[in-house]
Amino acid sequence: MAASSKRDKVEVFAFQAEIAKLMSLIINTFYSNKEIFLRELISNASDALDKIRYESLTDPSKLNSGKDLKINLVPNKHDHTLTIIDTGIGMTKADLVNNLGTIARSGTKDFREALQAGADISMIGQFRVGFYSAYLVAEKVTVITKHNDDEQYAWESSAGGSFTVRPDHGEPLGRGTKVILLLKEGHLEFLEERRLKEIVNKHSQFVGYPITLFREYECQKEESDEGKRKPKEKLKAEYLRCGEEKRESGQKKKRIIKEKVIVPEQLNKTKPIWTRNPEDITNEEYGEFYRSLTNDWEDHLVVKHFAVEGQLEFKALLYIPRRARLDLFDTRKRKNIRLYARKVFIMENCEDLVPKYLNFIQGVVDSEDLPLNISRESLQQIKILKVIKKHLVKKCFELFAELAEDKEKYLIFYEQFSRKIKHGIHDDPQNNRKLSELLRYYTSASMDEMVSLKDYCERMKENQTLIYYLAGDSLEQVANSVFVERLCKCGLEVIYMTQPMDEYCMQQLKTFEGKTCFSVAEVGLELPETKEEKAVLERKKAKLEKLCKIIKKRLESKIEKVVVSNRLVTSPCCIVTTSYNWTANMERVLKAQVFKYFSTMDYTSSKKFMEINPDDGIIEILRQKAEMDENDKGMKDLLILLYETALLSSGFVLENPQIHADRIYKIIRYGLALILDISGFGETSLRPH
Ligand code: ADP
Repeated sequence: MAASSKRDKVEVFAFQAEIAKLMSLIINTFYSNKEIFLRELISNASDALDKIRYESLTDPSKLNSGKDLKINLVPNKHDHTLTIIDTGIGMTKADLVNNLGTIARSGTKDFREALQAGADISMIGQFRVGFYSAYLVAEKVTVITKHNDDEQYAWESSAGGSFTVRPDHGEPLGRGTKVILLLKEGHLEFLEERRLKEIVNKHSQFVGYPITLFREYECQKEESDEGKRKPKEKLKAEYLRCGEEKRESGQKKKRIIKEKVIVPEQLNKTKPIWTRNPEDITNEEYGEFYRSLTNDWEDHLVVKHFAVEGQLEFKALLYIPRRARLDLFDTRKRKNIRLYARKVFIMENCEDLVPKYLNFIQGVVDSEDLPLNISRESLQQIKILKVIKKHLVKKCFELFAELAEDKEKYLIFYEQFSRKIKHGIHDDPQNNRKLSELLRYYTSASMDEMVSLKDYCERMKENQTLIYYLAGDSLEQVANSVFVERLCKCGLEVIYMTQPMDEYCMQQLKTFEGKTCFSVAEVGLELPETKEEKAVLERKKAKLEKLCKIIKKRLESKIEKVVVSNRLVTSPCCIVTTSYNWTANMERVLKAQVFKYFSTMDYTSSKKFMEINPDDGIIEILRQKAEMDENDKGMKDLLILLYETALLSSGFVLENPQIHADRIYKIIRYGLALILDISGFGETSLRPH
């Protein structure tokens, strides 16, 4: 890949194909909000500074190459360059080649696809390809960098598919990285002091290292020729060029000095926001900090800022984002809660701070008790962290409860993160009570607004003991399901669940406020019936006993048992499962998720019960036929058809839908008098599945 020339030691590399495509898209897409390039480059500089600071905690000598941790911005109107310099960790030659061009992260392709689908370029940071945003404004980018373990190198590219890397013998950096952007003609605004200040203020106000703008201006000064040189610029100015001499008539010899002065000005306040008094912080400031922390392009949904005092002390800022992160890529590197020890950054993605299901929470934790020189490995063994975690989980629950008071915001939260809550119910039995209070569902009585389980319990019928629920594919499907016919007719509310996780979550939860949660797709549905109603059902059961036995015999091993149903109104029969088995919905979910990996898995092994509707005409005729002739040949065919149709209407998937379809066609043909005999049309399906 590299065509090197020994004389000048310039190596040419081709950008990895995905990166090259992304760059060309960045260069060619019309996009007006180009200023975000600076946010991305400053964020990279800040990350690099975090890294060296972290390394220096365990090995202070790492800072021998420079103790000042800072970011400088230097616009140069003469050369049309904007330079961003940091004293961060720098890059070795291998880092340069890998990180800036030859190894594409998964986010590269994801971002390109997202862009093509209409995503906003400002999302670039979330895809971890922020560096390339430099090409929004620059026609050429030069990166000079020095890592403690390598020489100083220069990377350079004007896009076009390739970049060069060479040793750099220019001004030594000591340590860190200097990104020089040669701005395109149309983007010289990014050399203006006012514009740069505005951008840093907007996007990078909360970067934890000083960002200093070196603004440049020219001034003229007079000085008499015998006069002494003026004292040095008060503002620590650097003199660049001194000017000409002038003699004015009748006057003493004057010296006009033209000075080009560079004045450093710090643009951000580095006092960490979490150390400030919450009363003095505006929501805008919280939002700005959130955005700088997460690379999110939107503000947070809610924030909690608190301090824990006593035996253990820490300050924390916890945010719930408005949107679930695009975490399809690079999940290992996902940012969530940043850990600090006495304002010193320790770690970006501390997995031990919150349980996995809460890893959508973003924020900062700053402990007073953690030792500074702690390594990532030893951190896991530290007890303090466990205590912090406990506090954080508690605070998260407080935050959720506060959020629940604002219906509109809660809906946004729920839409984005309900899956996480459900995972929590599954993974964190200790907290699943509290988590279950956060669940919201549509129900048969509330199809427009989701309700909580608490709401459901409050309006349960007097003699109702169970919380009825049904899980399925869509709201429409569950609402029209055979399983809810009688319940709805009796005015019993059924909770409708449509996410794959729901049913697992309910199986884990089992009860809510002492009431058992019951899937109405399972056998043994209990309804709050009166004694008389129960007696009527018993009589019907007795009447249909013989038919039940015959059906079981005819359907052989397909079903466990045939029982008389109390849940059907308009359908003749349905298929239910036991609570120890997968419901139709779980079979469907499993098939979709697991079957492709475990094709040998016997996913159809749920024990199925057939329930028949004692009040349905079809069942009554079958009963009469059975009474007359137990061995009626045509009955077998009908039962097969009935069974398969019940499977379908109960949400199961037919093993061989074509055979079922053939049977239906036969009946249609018979109905249209195209054929005169359909006896034996059920035979084919008696092949074992
Ligand atoms: P991200 O910063 O999200 O990882 P970028 O495309 O912005 O993605 O940067 C790619 C990589 O290049 C970074 O992960 C980092 O390793 C390296 N890098 C970029 N800028 C700097 C810098 N100023 N100092 C050190 N390394 C840098």
